[in-house]
Amino acid sequence: MLHSVTPCTSAFATHLLLTSMKFCSDCGQPVSLAVPADDNRLRHVCDHCGTIHYQNPKMVIGSIPLWLEGEQPQLLLCRRAIEPRRGYWTLPAGFMENDETTEEAAARETLEEAGARIALQGLFTLLNVPHVQQVHMFYRAQLLDLSFAPGIESLDVRLFTEDEIPWDDIAFPTVSHTLKLFFNDLAGHLQGRPFGFHSMDIRRRLQPE
Ligand SMILES: [Zn+2]
Repeated sequence: MLHSVTPCTSAFATHLLLTSMKFCSDCGQPVSLAVPADDNRLRHVCDHCGTIHYQNPKMVIGSIPLWLEGEQPQLLLCRRAIEPRRGYWTLPAGFMENDETTEEAAARETLEEAGARIALQGLFTLLNVPHVQQVHMFYRAQLLDLSFAPGIESLDVRLFTEDEIPWDDIAFPTVSHTLKLFFNDLAGHLQGRPFGFHSMDIRRRLQPE
């Protein structure tokens, strides 16, 4: 049994109304927003075949490719060739695919976006971004060689020391937070302390300072 809900006033309901499906992917008929029996959230429900189309957060997985062979530690960043945030810099990252692990996703995205081969070294950040229905994860990684090159989703790929990071031109808050945490931990690591693991929630409405 389905309970129609009107009006839809929550931010989550607004998101559903504005951004998502109008037709059933099973039978092609229109869908409605309703709270299914034994559920407590609005879902897209097919008016014709009754299929409930659940939607859940997407995983965005990336790496922090570190090159330690130069005079100073350097990280590999990509300049985005695609929207959103075209022209801004990011760590190599992207949506996890079906049938792969998080580590496989990190290595694949790094190869696709930066043409770079890495050795993964452990999960470093996990960032919830609930207002865009995403969870971002970044792995520490050793860059294996300098034969990197922009993939089709990148305008440029290059190494940056901490002083060279273009902080005003970083594409996403999850990347800025990860970079700051990484350089902080790296300073300790170079003095013999282990890297940490950091989890954080990033919400659109930041607390007033
Ligand atoms: Zn249907």
